[in-house]
Amino acid sequence: MKAELRATIDRIAELSHELIVSSKEFNNQDLEEAIEASGIDVRYFVNKNYDGFLKWDTQQNCPIIAVNANQAPVRQRFSMAHELGHLILDWNWIPYSNNNKSFDKDKVLNVTLFRGVKQTPEETKVNEFAAAFLMPDSLLKKITDEVKERKISYAEAIEKIKSIAGVSGVSAGYRFKHYCQEKGLNIVNE
Ligand SMILES: [Zn+2]
Repeated sequence: MKAELRATIDRIAELSHELIVSSKEFNNQDLEEAIEASGIDVRYFVNKNYDGFLKWDTQQNCPIIAVNANQAPVRQRFSMAHELGHLILDWNWIPYSNNNKSFDKDKVLNVTLFRGVKQTPEETKVNEFAAAFLMPDSLLKKITDEVKERKISYAEAIEKIKSIAGVSGVSAGYRFKHYCQEKGLNIVNE
């Protein structure tokens, strides 16, 4: 993905997180509530083949994000953020509004398959959105500053991102490393 496109997606994700989560005094641990408050119905399903899906609820007239009930909370959180990415990037959905005109209401809007699915450019974009939504640049900047000021080590920074964002260690490590590289910060081995 080109740096410019990544930066645009990251900015949209950061603003979305502000609008849905941080400005409403939610955090990622209560992401389900935060997403529901913004006008989306969150549901759970049991199935071995999917992580999550997005569809339109014609009765309630709102989008539904459904996630796999059997998966760990970190993974369910990522699936919610992923489907939210489809809703915002692909369907131009705006949180806290009734902008449902462009939806094809009879269809499942998106299905995220269990791991192993071939990454399309659309999925890569939406995964970037999900990571940047759960771990916004503003959070990474704050934590990078703490590392630069030697308040915490690089390893502690990753632990901190992991617990604040409610993501896996792998996701936190990957995004933080990328962030540091893009900002030209050489703090990995300090
Ligand atoms: Zn997807």
